[in-house]
Amino acid sequence: MNYSVTPIGFVRSCFKEKFAIPRQPQLAPAARGVLELTPPFDSADAVAGLEQVSHVWLLFLFHQALEDKPRLKVRPPRLGGNTSMGVFATRATHRPNGIGQSVVRLEKIEPGRLILSGIDLLDGTPVIDIKPYVPYADAVSSATNQMASAPPAPIPVAWGDGALQQAHEHALRLGEPLTELIEQCLAQDPRPAYQVPPPERVYGVKFWDVQVRWHYPQRDRIRVLEVVADL
Ligand code: SAM
Repeated sequence: MNYSVTPIGFVRSCFKEKFAIPRQPQLAPAARGVLELTPPFDSADAVAGLEQVSHVWLLFLFHQALEDKPRLKVRPPRLGGNTSMGVFATRATHRPNGIGQSVVRLEKIEPGRLILSGIDLLDGTPVIDIKPYVPYADAVSSATNQMASAPPAPIPVAWGDGALQQAHEHALRLGEPLTELIEQCLAQDPRPAYQVPPPERVYGVKFWDVQVRWHYPQRDRIRVLEVVADL
């Protein structure tokens, strides 16, 4: 039997590519985006009462990871990319029906849109439902997960000559906490776990409309090299 779902909106996100998006929400509070609701859900009726809520669950489609053939086993990046696990034991993007879920902060409600922060969603992500976070039911104080018992330890992020000033200038132009976004996302160490790059290897990613480039002067240390417009 097949069921079909229709997006209730799409996310306009600071993340323009999959690389360097945190592995879960809340890891980068400066990661902001807008959920633009589509008709008929862009009406004030659909969000009446939501102003009483600080966080919402978003159910969404991993639209850039959809596959025809379901996988039973996946290799989560968090486990180094070498360990194979049952798909239902992980939060991997490759999964039956391609459905993701994230708890994000609801910053503001505007006509036809929700302003969000702490997101881990790619630009253009189709959202299929929104639900209020219910602390007494959703935060389980006795819960355990031996695979993911704590957030990944952040690594130090330093700024190269001029890069911090570039970030400040773009932050001002965008009206976004760009410096914090870069620091919070790079501290998650986006490189694949098995890579030990030479210091001359430069990595890059697009946040909003800027290209951020960095390298690893030492194994677990990041130095931001430049933050330049990529319009
Ligand atoms: N919090 C969600 C969950 O548990 O279902 C997502 C977890 S998943 C491990 C997080 C990764 O999904 C991010 O690092 C990003 O690269 C990827 N991602 C985010 N939005 C996506 C999209 N629309 N399509 C494909 N991959 C996406």
